[in-house]
Amino acid sequence: MLTQIPGLRPSLVRWRVWAQLGLYLYLLPRLLVVSTAPFAARWNMSSVSVPPPKCLQKPLAVPHRHMFGPGPSNVPRRILEAGALPVIGHMHPEIFEIMSDIKIGIQYIFQTRNSMTLAVSGTGHSAMECAIFNSVEPGESVLTAVNGIWGERAADMAERIGARVNTIVAAPGGFFTNAEIEKALLKHRPVLFFIAHGESSTGVLHPLDGIGQLCLKYNCLFLVDSVASIGGTPLCMDQLGIDILYTGSQKVLNAPPGTAPISFSERACQKIFNRRTKPVSFSLDLSWLANYWGCDGKPSRVYHHTGPVTAFYSLREGLAVLVEEGLENSWERHQKVAEYFHDGLESMGLKLFVKEKKARLPTVTTIVAPHGYDVKEITAYIMKTHNLEISGGLGPSVGLVLRVGLMGCNSSKANVDMVLAALKDALKHCHRSKV
Ligand code: PMP
Repeated sequence: MLTQIPGLRPSLVRWRVWAQLGLYLYLLPRLLVVSTAPFAARWNMSSVSVPPPKCLQKPLAVPHRHMFGPGPSNVPRRILEAGALPVIGHMHPEIFEIMSDIKIGIQYIFQTRNSMTLAVSGTGHSAMECAIFNSVEPGESVLTAVNGIWGERAADMAERIGARVNTIVAAPGGFFTNAEIEKALLKHRPVLFFIAHGESSTGVLHPLDGIGQLCLKYNCLFLVDSVASIGGTPLCMDQLGIDILYTGSQKVLNAPPGTAPISFSERACQKIFNRRTKPVSFSLDLSWLANYWGCDGKPSRVYHHTGPVTAFYSLREGLAVLVEEGLENSWERHQKVAEYFHDGLESMGLKLFVKEKKARLPTVTTIVAPHGYDVKEITAYIMKTHNLEISGGLGPSVGLVLRVGLMGCNSSKANVDMVLAALKDALKHCHRSKV
């Protein structure tokens, strides 16, 4: 507003107003630059030196593929859709209810009444570490049965926490007698004995009868890996006297990888909750996990980690599918399909890697690498031509075998026929050396 100052001429007043306006116009942008300089330095787009990646500006593309390797298996629509449900809080009452369903589902597939039953937020390896890190203290003796890669890995994990580790070793494809196991238990007096029920690197289904009693006799916890076997072949935790049993979500359960069911017996809990030292891992500490999963009888749950809620939905549905089919039906289906597959392979002139029929894992079949062929060329050819995954060996079986996994919904005669046709085609078209 122009104010009339008494005694000043109107032309002089106008001149002063224009001068003031000019000054403001000159100063304002400069003031703005000075006052916002620190923010500008932080937010100025020209300071971004890593450009937005082009690949992330394209739509996500994932192929449909027949997942007939040793895992992960195909995930049926029902389970995929469960994983796409809305995210809710990891401490909301509804998620606790879902976690309770999962607990009961695991008790069913493990055939156990252990209340210390839950799912680790992680893959099978996390469950292995959860079992070993909680049940073993530095300096204690551990025995692992090595007839493939999983015994080696368990030994590695126990060594990392300062345990005294001993192994019994069988050739890939082989397994142990109870007499051999007892001899080693007597010699090494371990606090924990590890064995893989389904050795997915070699295709061996290890007999477990009587080992639980031996472990009890020598005051040792009995730890069993059932990542590749649970749901596909009989395994009853309580009847077998297993103290710690774990599996993964991505094989017979047909859920995506990322959660790992695990259960601990009363005897295992006694040892774990009377430790002198804290377990080395905070995220796998059973006292924390037991509280998060409502296994410790405490009235309230305390935040430990953000549970992967959508992975819990998928796991719940994977368990629900197995509950609907019934364990015995699933065991029988996997066995029949495996036998049909094995007969088909032998009639093609291929040889099974595990010689003893009863020691053949019905979920993962190992085929002796066809003579004169390069295993990698066969698997690559089948992937490219048939959009189908089968794999080569792993650890001690590298170069020795082809591995085919038909697990959960993938275990069907139609899928066997598809694999046999792909193998025939590969043997016809892949390079074969004369020697
Ligand atoms: N144990 C066995 C017998 C397995 O087959 C696997 C997975 N191939 C694992 C443990 C490890 O599971 P993950 O890859 O989910 O960590």
